[in-house]
Amino acid sequence: MKKKWIIGGSIAGGVLLLLAAAVILFFANQFHIEMEMKGEDVTLEYGTAYEDAGAEAYLRGKLFGNKTLAVTTENGVDTAKIGSYTVTYTASQWKWKGEAKRTVTVVDTQKPTLTLKGDAAITLTKGTKFEDPGYTAEDGYDGPLTAAVTGEVKTDTVGEYKLTYTAADSSGNTATAQRTVTVKAPAVKKPATVSDSNTVVPGNKTIYLTFDDGPGPYTAQLLDVLKKYGVKATFFVTNKPSYNHLIARMAAEGHAVGIHTASHDYKKIYASEDAFFADQQIMQDIITAQTGSPTKLMRFPGGSSNMVSSFNKGIMTRLTAAVTERGMRYFDWNVDSNDAGGASTSSEVAANIKKGIQSSRYANVLQHDIKKFSVNAVEEVIQWALANGYTFKALDETSPTCHHGVNN
Ligand SMILES: [Zn+2]
Repeated sequence: MKKKWIIGGSIAGGVLLLLAAAVILFFANQFHIEMEMKGEDVTLEYGTAYEDAGAEAYLRGKLFGNKTLAVTTENGVDTAKIGSYTVTYTASQWKWKGEAKRTVTVVDTQKPTLTLKGDAAITLTKGTKFEDPGYTAEDGYDGPLTAAVTGEVKTDTVGEYKLTYTAADSSGNTATAQRTVTVKAPAVKKPATVSDSNTVVPGNKTIYLTFDDGPGPYTAQLLDVLKKYGVKATFFVTNKPSYNHLIARMAAEGHAVGIHTASHDYKKIYASEDAFFADQQIMQDIITAQTGSPTKLMRFPGGSSNMVSSFNKGIMTRLTAAVTERGMRYFDWNVDSNDAGGASTSSEVAANIKKGIQSSRYANVLQHDIKKFSVNAVEEVIQWALANGYTFKALDETSPTCHHGVNN
């Protein structure tokens, strides 16, 4: 029994020794997990399929062991959405863990598409309005885009203008397009052709609608009405920088343009002949710039019969002679709409004009296009006059002068 125990004891001792040796060997082996990622980090265009190249894992030891391990892949890549994604590979054995990461970047490198609406080259007449026909900009990733438009079209100055459209997507890819807008001088019609669109019936009375003190905020509306009926009129203009571009339109649409002085300041213009002509020249230069040629038509502020100039004795006598000497034709009027006097409504203005027209051989009608109610009366007057066989004409150098008597 004793011996057996000793034998048994030595067997147990041997087993223990072996176990101890195995444990020491096991720890001395220094296990680790080696991850082998296939391929590099990936950059790919949105919308394309991502195929993961995968990874392999091995359990390795210093003294023994070389085991292939199962790899778990965590892949959250969404190629429909640009951004940076991480693919994580893990493997484990006992207490050892291995991990590898791959960065997948989904990008948009495609330019947006940018298409101009309308023509890439547009030509328009000075004084007309430019409305940009616009564009369509679309990005495959971001959808519709708003483009930045740089450049400016000065419709009051003849020249060539470039508009640049730039559309950028959220990734900074850009597309550009360019439009050229050419502003050309209006073809100035000669006075002889001004009334071409009106039928002149011999023996019928002619009406010369004249508008003083503009251009102003209602002048464009007035030009629209005149255009609607093919009626030509005469504008005695002053310097209104914000509206001067309409002078080009007047000429382009066949109306006559005359000088009414730049400032319309009685004290200033009637102070001396020099002062008058200096002021008149300013307006002549503006008209020339707008229409392409100077005018010979004019109307004195207050008319040639004015007494407002009486602070300078004899000035109107001298000026009426001087302007004629310079080759200008001045016009007064014989039908007063009274829009600068007693009339304050469109119906009063229209009534005054109709009455005046019927009691004159021809009618040179005075109105002011800076007065809205007066401008609003024009359509009624035109409809009435056309229905009654009258003819409308713009003034020219051969028109009846219609002079008042000079009182100063
Ligand atoms: Zn005036």
